[in-house]
Amino acid sequence: MIYPWQTTAWQQLAAQRHTLPHALLLLGKSGSGRVAFARHLAATLLCEDVQPDFSPCGQCPSCHLLAQNSHPDLCELTPEIPEGDNVARKLLQIKVDAVRELLDFAHLSSHRGGRRVVLLHPAESLNLQAANALLKVLEEPPPQVVFVLVGHNKDTLLPTIKSRCRQFALPAPDAEEALAYLQANHVDNAPALLAFHGGTPLFEHNPATDALRAELLPLLAEPRLLGLLDYAARFDREKLPLATFLDWLGKWLLDIGLAQRQLPPCYYPDAAADLAKLGARTEPMHLFALVERINLLAPYGRHTLNVKMQAEDLLIDYLHFWQHKRSPA
Ligand SMILES: [Zn+2]
Repeated sequence: MIYPWQTTAWQQLAAQRHTLPHALLLLGKSGSGRVAFARHLAATLLCEDVQPDFSPCGQCPSCHLLAQNSHPDLCELTPEIPEGDNVARKLLQIKVDAVRELLDFAHLSSHRGGRRVVLLHPAESLNLQAANALLKVLEEPPPQVVFVLVGHNKDTLLPTIKSRCRQFALPAPDAEEALAYLQANHVDNAPALLAFHGGTPLFEHNPATDALRAELLPLLAEPRLLGLLDYAARFDREKLPLATFLDWLGKWLLDIGLAQRQLPPCYYPDAAADLAKLGARTEPMHLFALVERINLLAPYGRHTLNVKMQAEDLLIDYLHFWQHKRSPA
């Protein structure tokens, strides 16, 4: 299935049905339903009785095999989940061995006599070696094999991979569509959650994590050393990756930046009053230094460094930022 906001994109793709290339790169924001769209496309490419609107029929042997997750002509490649506990704190990658297996798959002949489809997502998780291995098969694609890659609209993919795929942009829903979707799915506190997730409605919904984030906000509005240190310890106990903490704090700082320019918050609309006060009392230059600290830590967001210590350091820096009152103009 595709989401309501993808209907036009699907029609655009359907218009290209007779000239589809051997490799497509679907680009869209995470949380906007891009993988669902890619799976729908894979189903159509494999379907033995494609409907006039380019949808899979849902009835043929291929569609039945897909519904059972056992279609021999589909290979879906996603990052390997590392073994052991604390998976959230590990970097997820698609490695070269997985791509080699995929190449073996691509060179087999079709079980059902039609196309074979390789679905790979997210394309950014290919490590360099894996991307180079994939590049070879994209340069000399076996007949009747279609590669569907899903990626983010950022320059995190090798240009050589991009240039060998036809790029196709997928839309995110507008604010109204996204809110309607969440409300139809009975998500509590939908407007605040939607704002926090940058307007894309298909986020992972974890009430305990959301509650932990909500507890951080009053501490950031009125920071006190002991409260901050206690919070860093609690965050660490939840075994969440540093990337999550950087995301929460980074978005708060962006909202302070907006408040310094007398603009409304983007990510934490419910904290607008606190943010306005912070915007009035803090210096843009000090804010910039703190944002820079977060940017420098971003590449380590999923490494197994000491999350508690990093979170403490950042919160202490935040306290100093808050204590530096804006100098009188
Ligand atoms: Zn079918």
